[in-house]
Amino acid sequence: MEHEHVREVDPAVADALEAEVKRQRSSLQMIASENHASRAVLDAQGSALTNKYAEGYPGSRYYGGCEYADEVEQLAIDRATELFGAEHVNVQPHSGTQANQAVYFATLEPGDKILSLDLTHGGHLSHGHPANFVGQLYDVEQYEVDAETGYLDYDALADQAAEFDPDMIVSGYSAYPREIEWGRIQEVAESVDAFHLADIAHITGLVAGGVHESPVGVADFVTGSTHKTIRAGRGGIVMTSEEYADDVDAAVFPGGQGGPLMHNVAGKAVGFKEALTPEFEEYARQTVANAKALGQSLADHGFSLVSGGTDNHLVLVDLRESHPDTSGGDAEKALEDAGIVLNGNTVPGETRSPFDPSGIRAGTPALTTRGFDQDDCRTVGDLIARVVDRSEEDVIADVRDEVESLCEANPLYGDE
Ligand SMILES: *Cc1c(COP(=O)(O)O)cnc(C)c1O
Repeated sequence: MEHEHVREVDPAVADALEAEVKRQRSSLQMIASENHASRAVLDAQGSALTNKYAEGYPGSRYYGGCEYADEVEQLAIDRATELFGAEHVNVQPHSGTQANQAVYFATLEPGDKILSLDLTHGGHLSHGHPANFVGQLYDVEQYEVDAETGYLDYDALADQAAEFDPDMIVSGYSAYPREIEWGRIQEVAESVDAFHLADIAHITGLVAGGVHESPVGVADFVTGSTHKTIRAGRGGIVMTSEEYADDVDAAVFPGGQGGPLMHNVAGKAVGFKEALTPEFEEYARQTVANAKALGQSLADHGFSLVSGGTDNHLVLVDLRESHPDTSGGDAEKALEDAGIVLNGNTVPGETRSPFDPSGIRAGTPALTTRGFDQDDCRTVGDLIARVVDRSEEDVIADVRDEVESLCEANPLYGDE
């Protein structure tokens, strides 16, 4: 990745871009929401479509010259439709947060009630945190996972919904390691006559690859991000039934956005095409197998996993029992020095602060993209344990060497 055109104009940015590629190649990207898009997707995103205004939708734009923009957006829509089996797809949201905003805007009035999972229990800012527009515009109450088991408690959710009488229930999470039973949440939503938004941002690729049950056709609205477990470049997507199609489209544009980022829509088209292949199904399966192997390895080293394990692409480690003197922030910092990049994360029943929480969250989507298998992920678990057990310089240096060998054995973006 030479970035030669950037270098001609702006060596400072070219240096940073090259250093970023090197960083991604030579360290382990284990932030559960990250991945490595293919060079084809990167190429599409870096295309001349960034120049094009295409407000509106295919065949009905507010600007001339949209024939190729139409072609690309229609391909993205058709492929997403095939991938997820949705009646209606909107591929224009700039991000997952924008996708959620569109659904709220299509269905709710300011002051309406949203019931969503607490951020420290694995929810997302865009589900109603007070710092986010959602928390400021709507009346939000939050549910929690069972702090003992780490699992969603569907019966407690039903009771809380009966009490609060929400207009919208949000499911789908940022740090929940277990399978989500969409049907049970849909039942709760129907019992109180609320809409159900299933936000699959983290697991879009697992749903596409058939390794997590799909909420499409179950929940009223499904939103996703396109850059996490699916490798279609940064952005968001909304799926719904014919019934709400026009409302969602109007809420995305002109409701919440101006011109779509057509270069990113091109990235989505290419990434969705890749996701329609049998290789992608295998990728999704391997991502989950790798997370299970990582979790088992960490458990063997005495770490406590929230919910005891994982069904998806991430593990959430609660450090309080095994390493009472180490915060998630301490662990994150030491691991980063060793070339293992993940994040400190709150855990259910958090007793520290969100800025220096009690857990770490680790995902396998990016490692799996570069070819890691279960054995490699067990080794990664060993390395994490070594650093968290004893964050001394010599240990960090040794682990850093082992990380580099693992990276060399699993090259990223070719080697030029
Ligand atoms: C990542 C995430 C989003 C989307 O985030 P953006 O950064 O806005 O794309 C939405 N919901 C959940 C649950 C997420 O984890």
